Amino acid sequence: MFSRVERKESSREKRSVPAEVQCVARKKGERTGIKAGKHVLYEAIRCPRKELDAHLCAVHTNMVKRNGSLPFGVYTDPLTENDRKVFGDL
Ligand SMILES: [Zn+2]
Repeated sequence: MFSRVERKESSREKRSVPAEVQCVARKKGERTGIKAGKHVLYEAIRCPRKELDAHLCAVHTNMVKRNGSLPFGVYTDPLTENDRKVFGDL
């Protein structure tokens, strides 16, 4: 296994990560989404970290371990009911 060594070299670099290797967790975005009435719809922004395990980065893998699910789901998922609470009624 060499992935551990590889990661060390770029601890704080802002290199753009190819989408195929990015973590698939959805991230609550900046308020850059579409405005619908008084609500701002957040875009399905995916986590920009590199995936390490099962398409999730270490941070989100830990979230799943701790909470049993991702806070905002996977970026390819349609918005869930819980998302609607967060994002407002569509
Ligand atoms: Zn992630």
